[in-house]
Amino acid sequence: MATALFSHPSSLDHEMPNGHPERVDRIRAVHHIVASPHFDNLLRHEAGPAGDEAILRAHTPEHLRRLRAVAPEEGFEFLDADTSMSPGTLTAALHGAGAAVAAVDLVLSGAVDNAFCAMRPPGHHAESRRAMGFCFFNSAAIAAHHARAHHGLERVAVIDFDVHHGNGTQEIFWSDPNLFYGSTHQMPLYPGTGSVHETGVGNIFNAPLRAGDGGAQFREAMTTRILPALDAFGPDLLVMSAGFDAHRRDPLGSLALDEEDFAWITLRLMEIADRHCGGRIVSVLEGGYDLRALAASVGVHVQTLMRGDAGMVEEERAHSGDED
Ligand SMILES: [Zn+2]
Repeated sequence: MATALFSHPSSLDHEMPNGHPERVDRIRAVHHIVASPHFDNLLRHEAGPAGDEAILRAHTPEHLRRLRAVAPEEGFEFLDADTSMSPGTLTAALHGAGAAVAAVDLVLSGAVDNAFCAMRPPGHHAESRRAMGFCFFNSAAIAAHHARAHHGLERVAVIDFDVHHGNGTQEIFWSDPNLFYGSTHQMPLYPGTGSVHETGVGNIFNAPLRAGDGGAQFREAMTTRILPALDAFGPDLLVMSAGFDAHRRDPLGSLALDEEDFAWITLRLMEIADRHCGGRIVSVLEGGYDLRALAASVGVHVQTLMRGDAGMVEEERAHSGDED
């Protein structure tokens, strides 16, 4: 297995007000874990910014124009109560989307089997015409559209296991039967969408979970609702909206997943990608706000992408004893 890792220093320049959970330290924690020797075999790339053409496949020209117009030269510009731009935000967001596009190009070139984009800000709440929920450009949707428009793929799926529903991806995919969106998420919770009755044109599959649900309920939801539909859809490329805020330690959600659950879903999605599209997967970082849980979860996710198992989880566990 060959796995690429996309990152860019601009992720460190997107600042949020003090105390905001979507903070620069998140990406430092991710960079720290992938710097360990377990990840020596990753093929590391720096992401360039997405071009307007790629952005505009998922967003309106007004949305892009507005973000350019309001981007501040100092301080913060608030787009909603908890989504704000600092001077470094626009560049970081453009590189976030650019990483997803570049990852699609690299995976479809056959140079790697799969790729993980370790970027911030996240993207799955960004709708075609508005930023919200810490998100500005919907990198997963931009990647899916790019794969179809630029590479000629027919069907692309996004699977989203962030604790929050990806309302933006759902909205952008809503009426396109060649784009599949499947999501597990806590409900009720921000942003309020994601019921099983939101089905688009039969291409949207929501499997809401309740506060307190853990790995058993998560695996059941995936196994009974999302994965069979994905298998039937038969994607030509699989994109993961990889949020790790469904972890039991996360302060924003109340689900109780562990790293093993993230390894499990990564493996299940790799099996489906193997069956339908030669294993081609692009995974983009979404949420995850407990730094330790985020780092550990990204670690097992990327380790699984690299070698198709989560051996490191057991190794780390054996070494860490029961300190918690
Ligand atoms: Zn989230």
